[in-house]
Amino acid sequence: MKIYKINIALLIAGNCLPFFAGAQHKPAKSTVAVHHTVQPGTKLIPLDPSVRTGKLANGFTYYIRHNNEPEHRVVMYLANKVGSILETDEEQGLSHFLEHMSFNGTEHFPKSELINYLQKAGVRFGADLNAYTSFDETVYQLPLPTDDPAVMKNGLQIMRDWAQGLTLETAEIEKERGVIMEEERLGRGAADRILRQTLPVMVNHSRYASRLPIGKADVILHFKPEVIRNYYHKWYRPDLQALIIVGDIDVAKMEQLVRQKFADLKSPPNEKPRLKYSSSLTGKNQFLAITDKELTNTVIEVNCKHKEQKIYTETDYRASLLKSLFNGMLSRRYMELSRQANPPFLEGGAAIRDVMPGLEAFKLYVSCRPGEVESGFKAVWRETARLQRLGFSKTELERSKREYLNEMEAMMQEKDKMTSDTYVNAYLNHFLNGGATPGLSKQNEMINRFIPTITLAEVNALAKEYIRETNRDIIVTAPEKDKATLPAESAVLAWIRDVNAEKMDAFKDDVSTLPLLAHMPVPGKIVKEEKDAKTGLTFLTLSNGVNVILKKTNFKNDEIVFQAFTNGGTSLYSDADYESASNAANIISSAGVGNYNASQLEKYLSGKQMSVFPFIDERTQGFMGNTNTKDMDSAFSLLYAYATEPRKDEQIFKGIISNAKAALVNKDDDPESVFSDTMTTVLGNYNIRRTPANLEKIAQINLDRAYSIYKERFANVTGMKFVLVGNIDEAKLKPYLEKYIASLPANGTIEAAKNLDIHVPEGLISKTVYAGKEDKAMVYLVFSGKFDYDYASTLKMQALKETLEIRLLERLREEESGVYSPAAEVSTRKLPDGRYGISIYFGCSPANVERMIASAVDEVEKLRKVGPAPENIEKFKAEDLHTMQTIMKTNNFWLDYLTGQLSNGEPLDQISNYNKLIKGMTAKEVKDIADKYLTGKNYIRLVLLPESVKAK
Ligand SMILES: [Zn+2]
Repeated sequence: MKIYKINIALLIAGNCLPFFAGAQHKPAKSTVAVHHTVQPGTKLIPLDPSVRTGKLANGFTYYIRHNNEPEHRVVMYLANKVGSILETDEEQGLSHFLEHMSFNGTEHFPKSELINYLQKAGVRFGADLNAYTSFDETVYQLPLPTDDPAVMKNGLQIMRDWAQGLTLETAEIEKERGVIMEEERLGRGAADRILRQTLPVMVNHSRYASRLPIGKADVILHFKPEVIRNYYHKWYRPDLQALIIVGDIDVAKMEQLVRQKFADLKSPPNEKPRLKYSSSLTGKNQFLAITDKELTNTVIEVNCKHKEQKIYTETDYRASLLKSLFNGMLSRRYMELSRQANPPFLEGGAAIRDVMPGLEAFKLYVSCRPGEVESGFKAVWRETARLQRLGFSKTELERSKREYLNEMEAMMQEKDKMTSDTYVNAYLNHFLNGGATPGLSKQNEMINRFIPTITLAEVNALAKEYIRETNRDIIVTAPEKDKATLPAESAVLAWIRDVNAEKMDAFKDDVSTLPLLAHMPVPGKIVKEEKDAKTGLTFLTLSNGVNVILKKTNFKNDEIVFQAFTNGGTSLYSDADYESASNAANIISSAGVGNYNASQLEKYLSGKQMSVFPFIDERTQGFMGNTNTKDMDSAFSLLYAYATEPRKDEQIFKGIISNAKAALVNKDDDPESVFSDTMTTVLGNYNIRRTPANLEKIAQINLDRAYSIYKERFANVTGMKFVLVGNIDEAKLKPYLEKYIASLPANGTIEAAKNLDIHVPEGLISKTVYAGKEDKAMVYLVFSGKFDYDYASTLKMQALKETLEIRLLERLREEESGVYSPAAEVSTRKLPDGRYGISIYFGCSPANVERMIASAVDEVEKLRKVGPAPENIEKFKAEDLHTMQTIMKTNNFWLDYLTGQLSNGEPLDQISNYNKLIKGMTAKEVKDIADKYLTGKNYIRLVLLPESVKAK
């Protein structure tokens, strides 16, 4: 268990700028019929009939659908076919800048009123309220509660304001320049430097190469306000916009409101045509090899490019199924290839993918082990050559088909439980890309009709069709220290020729027909059964002493999630045994189980809707998993097998160790990895159970010791708590519990974990790490100490974190324009001793580090001395209640909650006080808890600065 969850993803205000995450681009006024010549005998796929869609006279499009998952919620999206591709040289970065300005003042919500209003309605900025900008589109999302009609009405007003009602005040624009520059700074680093060099090759030197959505610093810092206003009026217009609304709403009423509210959107005079851009094939091959000081391993990519095939007709859909089956089978082959004593690469694989606007590709990827570039590349290429020459086998195709059909069946089972977000994404794709959006029922019908007709010859033909020698890019990226041995184009081509000339055997599909278990269990009994009316829980005691806790829900139609644990864990082993103990569950479960080796097990499980994993953590060991009704026997027999018939596989062990070592070689060339290692080490007080992996620690992992520790941990389940949550049919479940769980070995002794007394060090600690060449700093501040654990206090700590985060955002970002997304985290624990930690994390300019830290610490001090603003407490309450309302309708929430309460020895009905405690919370209480814990006596300050600063 990690004490501190570090939010390095930094999500606030945008999963900004996804580059090629899926299909991002596409045609302007695309309708299915215009862009596609339908072949005779093929049928166009109709739009999902369950969505109400239409177009206003001004060209504005809408999609509206009723959906109850989650209840009392609606999601509204405004999609604009406007992105960085439309920008002139003087406008570079303004699509994204506009996205930011949408939260800084609209006609009905001046300045920061929009965020303020929504926070009070329970909507979190960043997590719920969000937006993104890419090359061809800008999309805004707003999830809202439906209980309050005023909030719904205002939500629609916000959409309307975004569409054509931004105020774009000069003062607000000026303040946002710094925020965007900080966002740009966070993006800097090796990955960004590499992207800027490889992008032109990837997009065949089309316009996309020079239109990264983040734009140009020069433009961001100096554009005149009227330039962005003109851009807004030029492109935010009804023919390029769509509103998507899905949720717990009355569709007819909503449609009427939308028609009224958006009818007056206007197109600008002298409307410019919205040109469609794409990357086209050139018929040429390209080669690029580049190095960077902060890269940690050599990566080679081969892209055999083809014109993108969009899905409009049933024939297109069938073709896409071929590719899915092809990709599934190929990825399984690569997985098998990696299970060797000397794995040929760190990661490797290939698939047919949409890779860039207008293009798809057979994309091969290999991340090489240091010094093993040629052998790594050849190993990955060899499988494509084998595929071209010898194809897939019949058994592989049958397995892949079965898997596909099973997954579809499982999805159909949950058809009425699909979330509103899933629908929104489908309609977004329909509007932005013009892709077919048939809905689940139609998809199910087509899959069941087409899959059985797909032949091996058809799938095998794809290898010949896609792996070509023209329109082929080879891109090599490598650490700078390997510059001397960087392969030239002629070398890579020679490797390809060598492999193509090798003698090859067909792939051997290793399948076992043995039963999973070598020894069948001797079933036990359910010896006691109790039901608790208050919590609705059922308690079963099994004959071997296992306590089963069942929570029946209807959140999903056919899902059970479970976790089982007993006390002990790695705490019972010496420091010398620690590495073997903490890696035991991973190593042993990678080796297969019962009668099956790893590959056989993977095939046996393919297509089953279940999973089970053993774990050994610091204080407990046990199993986690999930299953549907049909696969219960597989799930529980697998759990039994992991407990009683683990395997030891020397070869797989060597492979894991070998790759773990290889991954360490250049790790310290990555500045963020160096910083994160420092954080882990300092917070873990240099205890070897907390320090990051190194060669010495890896050398301490011993297979025999890991195996015997594993066996020891699962040899006795006395006192085990087994929690199951989901749509449980007790009559169906009980026989499996008796057969596979009541039969687990038990000796009557209940173990306890040992208190190792490891915690965040006390006192004042300050450390600065100098690494990296970009002008970029990261700051991590931690307040910690002993904690008087009780439920109410954990909720107050949550309020403290939330109100602190609101202030950090207002002050460091909005007022001081010094950071992009400051984050606060809180953690509390009860065992082995009560402890808390509150951390603050942000990136900023090295020049601003001291000023930003001072502002952050000042806000912490204000929380202690003045307390949070009552308004911010109200925001916290609204947001927390709002979030919990939905989370409490998921099986995983209840699984986490129940196992947490059981392991802490806390009452299982505690959560029934949640609403009362939150609603009754006062600013004074939060001030008091801030005063008690944020004293600054235990304060850790960690800063990452660029290498160049140290030199000065
Ligand atoms: Zn942004």
